[in-house]
Amino acid sequence: MTDITHYAAQMEKELPSILAMAERSVNIDSGSYLADGVNAVIDIWAGMLSGMGFIVERKPLAGFGDQMTARLALGGNGPRLLILGHADTVWPAGTAADWPFQRIGDRLTGPGVGDMKTNVIMAMHALKFLLANQALGGLASVTFCVVPDEEIGSPGSREWLESVSREADLCLTLEPCRPKGGMVIGRGAVGAFYVNATGVTAHVGANRENGASAIAALAAMVAPLEALGDPANGLCATVGIFKGGEARQVVPGSAEMHVDLRAPDDEAGEKLLAQVREIAARPPADPRVSIVSRGGFTRPAFPTLPGTHALFALAEEFCAELEIPVFSVVSRGGSDGSFSARLGVPTLDGLGPVTHDTCSRREQVEVASIITRGAVLAGLMAAAAEGRVRL
Ligand SMILES: [Zn+2]
Repeated sequence: MTDITHYAAQMEKELPSILAMAERSVNIDSGSYLADGVNAVIDIWAGMLSGMGFIVERKPLAGFGDQMTARLALGGNGPRLLILGHADTVWPAGTAADWPFQRIGDRLTGPGVGDMKTNVIMAMHALKFLLANQALGGLASVTFCVVPDEEIGSPGSREWLESVSREADLCLTLEPCRPKGGMVIGRGAVGAFYVNATGVTAHVGANRENGASAIAALAAMVAPLEALGDPANGLCATVGIFKGGEARQVVPGSAEMHVDLRAPDDEAGEKLLAQVREIAARPPADPRVSIVSRGGFTRPAFPTLPGTHALFALAEEFCAELEIPVFSVVSRGGSDGSFSARLGVPTLDGLGPVTHDTCSRREQVEVASIITRGAVLAGLMAAAAEGRVRL
């Protein structure tokens, strides 16, 4: 039996425990803004990590759940391993009651089941048997971070994640594996830009000339903003939210739009942002309307480093042994792995179980992939400990 098939057999033994903990965790609402729920999920996970010998530190983040850093010193001469997960989901309060954890045949469903509650639990169980088998002794340390605000772009966690990344030699990120085996080796930059307009209200029938439309001023920007994109090359400016107005018969006094920004690399992102700012700063056709804008890139691009290629090559080897598909993806979406990769830490993402329709009500995890993808993750950690990853 090779290591990797042995790890798959170990994961299979852990499956009932993984599913039981996934059920408890998924049935707690933990949307990014539900601090108590996020902390209740972290309580479960911190309990397991402490039981495995990790020193768990929790730092409260105002308005959100805690930032959990679990550290285990192993004392080897090998790399310092960083594992990134998150406890928050995109779902509001009440979702779990309405859509609880469920196993339907070979799939799991429920809010955040694949993004990424099962993933973190799978990783902890892989660590558990690797530690019990003394397979990680070559590592200097393992740091396992659980982020409370990932789904909104980790605005309060960037500094913390950058500081733990500076103390790491490689990073494994637990975002879901794409259907048919997609792992993420690179990501574009992601940003958010907000534009608010204040006009003058007036009745459209009685004295329209006294009004100045905030909606008209912002609407004039939509086409030029979206024309900045080149989607085929990963460059996009998209107006995702546009709201305004007070009543049908009133010249709108207020309007706002939220613009999503995507760029293949940081340089293209800076250029796009400058063009977006220039459009937002153009004087409105009606000078009585005032415009205020703010925002920028919140997640840097995740470059594909040589060490990332080396990690992916090993993952390919393990997947071949397990006869499961794998391919590499350069994603337009951001993740916390973007922070570590940006700082030069070889990072491989998409190491969770195979998840379909992520962040939709149809989100489903393939049960069998918890075993196989968990074995691949275990294999990567053990390979790092054995000095088999050329960083
Ligand atoms: Zn996620």
